[in-house]
Amino acid sequence: MNMFRGLREVLRPKDTEPFRETPHADPRWLDLADGKYKCACCGLDAREFLSLSYIAPAPFPHDNDQIDLAPLANDIFDTVDGDILTDDFCRVDTHHFVRTVIVFPLDGVEGCMMIGVWVSLETEDFARYHATMDRGQQSQLDLMFGWLANPVGEYDRPVAVLLHPQDSFQRPWLQIAHEEHPLAIAQIDGLTFDQMMNFIQAHGHSFTN
Ligand SMILES: [Zn+2]
Repeated sequence: MNMFRGLREVLRPKDTEPFRETPHADPRWLDLADGKYKCACCGLDAREFLSLSYIAPAPFPHDNDQIDLAPLANDIFDTVDGDILTDDFCRVDTHHFVRTVIVFPLDGVEGCMMIGVWVSLETEDFARYHATMDRGQQSQLDLMFGWLANPVGEYDRPVAVLLHPQDSFQRPWLQIAHEEHPLAIAQIDGLTFDQMMNFIQAHGHSFTN
């Protein structure tokens, strides 16, 4: 996998090379790259979960099975009164949410973990974001302040975030607003192997080795 390009070189320097200090990397990353972590419940390889997502913001009060079967196109959003969930927008009572991505580098190895999370925005910011969605040039929008609407690992709400709108219909990416928050530190230093596994296990998967 591209995600692990260079990982073997970091962890296992060639025998012919003279010994030298290499950046410390948890050897379990190599086991992960070798496919040694399989979920005890679903059997999937842990590498599959380096990209996770939530179907809906946690406050959306409906059956997740129904949501999964019937994702709605974004252009339905304005035609429905009341609670609604589409690919990128959600309304629950007077609260508005958008779908975003939070990215964490991995500590000591190449690659990253991405989690699709929903963010609650102020009504005015939501309106600006929603109105400009179809132009594909949203990086021109100002940064928006919001709140995570899903847990990330052990960190449940409220977590303040800055939303960076993107061009070319890419979902906005998130920066944790408080720089001393553990998630903000992880966004800079990278997730340790244990933090990454905790994030995956918080999504209901289970690894014994
Ligand atoms: Zn599983």
